[in-house]
Amino acid sequence: MAVILKITCNNETHTKDFAKLLAHCTSNIDQALVIYLEGDLGAGKSTLARSFIQTFGFDRVKSPTYALVESYVNEKISIHHFDCYRLSDPEELEYIGIREYSAPGHIQLIEWAELGHGAIEPADMVINITGIDEARTLAITTHSNTGEQLLACVNSSH
Ligand code: ADP
Ligand code: MG
Repeated sequence: MAVILKITCNNETHTKDFAKLLAHCTSNIDQALVIYLEGDLGAGKSTLARSFIQTFGFDRVKSPTYALVESYVNEKISIHHFDCYRLSDPEELEYIGIREYSAPGHIQLIEWAELGHGAIEPADMVINITGIDEARTLAITTHSNTGEQLLACVNSSH
């Protein structure tokens, strides 16, 4: 899949600012949204997810590594932050009711989505993070109309 947008973040603050922009752009989306966060351990997937979630007013963002998913729900939005790193069988995901997350108003942010293959929804957008020291490159690809709509907003505001 061709890379559609590459964003350079020189430090953690830039990555967090991008996450906030992305979060604001989701207000234009009226469909369920699935974003995969890719990259090695320490790339910044959880850092990006945490800032994204905090943008909606959820202050305490936990790591979902052991719980598999942490959900953040208010009257406006439902965000589900997955970390499938310790997932041994994708079927485990069926039991936590992820099918409900396909409804409009739900956003899924998924780390290590490949380990949930078969149970996890296809991505609307994939953000692949690479980098060394403080610098990160975010390579963003879209895989649906919803993803394209979201990227268009990010692109015009970036
Ligand atoms: P992952 O979830 O991908 O394993 P984390 O977000 O948990 O990664 O950790 C990323 C680490 O890299 C954090 O310690 C963070 O402070 C650090 N870091 C340094 N520079 C950046 C940057 N530009 N963007 C994101 N994180 C950064
Ligand atoms: Mg993580």
